[in-house]
Amino acid sequence: MEIKSLTIDAARAAIQNCTITATALAGSLYAKIATDDPQIGAYLTLSKERALAKAAEMDALAAKGEKLPPLGGVPVGVKDVMATRGVRTTAGSKILGNYIPPYDCTAVARLEAAGAVVLGKLNCDEFAMGSSNENSAWHPVHNPRDLSRVPGGSSGGSAAAVAADMAVAALGSDTGGSIRQPASFCGVVGLMPTYGRVSRYGLIAFASSLDHIGPLTKTVKDAAIVLQVIAGRDPMDSTSAAVAVPDYRGELEKPVRGLKIGMAKEYFGEGLDREVRAAIEAAIEKLAKLGCEVVPVSLPHTQYAVPAYYIVATAEASSNLARFDGVRYGYRADGVRTLSEMYRRSRDQGFGTEVKRRIMLGTYALSAGYYDAYYLKAQRVRTLLTRDFEEAFQKVDAIVTPTSPTAAFKLGEKVDDPLAMYLADIYTVTADLAGIPGISVPCGETREKLPIGLQILGRHFDEATILRIAHAYEQAH
Ligand code: GLN
Repeated sequence: MEIKSLTIDAARAAIQNCTITATALAGSLYAKIATDDPQIGAYLTLSKERALAKAAEMDALAAKGEKLPPLGGVPVGVKDVMATRGVRTTAGSKILGNYIPPYDCTAVARLEAAGAVVLGKLNCDEFAMGSSNENSAWHPVHNPRDLSRVPGGSSGGSAAAVAADMAVAALGSDTGGSIRQPASFCGVVGLMPTYGRVSRYGLIAFASSLDHIGPLTKTVKDAAIVLQVIAGRDPMDSTSAAVAVPDYRGELEKPVRGLKIGMAKEYFGEGLDREVRAAIEAAIEKLAKLGCEVVPVSLPHTQYAVPAYYIVATAEASSNLARFDGVRYGYRADGVRTLSEMYRRSRDQGFGTEVKRRIMLGTYALSAGYYDAYYLKAQRVRTLLTRDFEEAFQKVDAIVTPTSPTAAFKLGEKVDDPLAMYLADIYTVTADLAGIPGISVPCGETREKLPIGLQILGRHFDEATILRIAHAYEQAH
């Protein structure tokens, strides 16, 4: 069986028809991981026992001729920020280096309930803070399309695993772009659902009002299939929304003719790479040929999105990360004499540089004297950005933009310049701040054969429309 072209439906059908067993399929992916992953670095922990038990369960169903669930026997990977019962979960951090959760993240539990075989845990930036995966406490991830380049971040392991055929699909998390940007750098599809569409229970928090779980896949249809499985209200997360989940797969096939697509000049300004711009413009032309009407829209507060994001995200992170104190779980420093020394040493040794930088920034932004000037101001900007989108979505059904201003950069190129790294999040953080869904779909390559991603943003809870547009584009491309 060709692992390369294996989509969810193809894998499930082969197992259903007993062309291959789920056990053998998992085995061949583990073999691929053993040969290829030493160069790529996508996996942090393999969960073989758990994977093979699930595969055997699916094989037994198929042997009896029973209908497999939607992900029956499909091998997937999970970003290491999602808790997995009995399987080490580090969030890419030394401070959780020995953490074995006693429970499962809802999204992971739902994948498994739908028959998915979880191969293991995928590398990421520490606590999902980063855009290049170079902030992982363990090792960086290399872009499978060019090993000298980053895979993007923070879900770099998820994107790389799917791009390198070491998983058919993966879960990632997106707080400021971490599903869409790595998807674009690695040439795969990445979907960030609406805030509240997918439960965050069991997702190790970075910035709770911005964190989203979503799929990285080879095709748009696969993203729709995974979303179908993980979406919907969860009593364990009070911010998960009780909004009906449509039949995403069915919606994909509806025509796109007549849909209005917005193009915002604020996403085509300075800093946008020439080749990326040309690819996005060509993609928009293709959508016009498919019958979409391209309409200019304005999102005037876009220029304030990166500063607002880095205030809100760091403020929430500084509070969320207070729980890592060496007492309850994770790393504890040795040889300390007092309680406060234990806190300080454990956190000093357990957290990496970027995490510490953000804890300090966030604590400062929340401090009594500066709260109004920074945090409150950022929240106001967040409201303005949300209104920008609300107004635009009165005129259009979706907005198309580049996912990232450039294609994948070299490892080491930006790691010493955090500000340059932050500024490159310009096209993705807006959707997280507004809580709207976004998808990145491959739309060509640079001359150096590096993938480029087209971002499609939609109305709250309207993943169906952006999936439909992305699917139509992908089919025509
Ligand atoms: N690059 C952004 C950051 O570093 C986004 C991270 C994310 O989405 N998890 O915060």
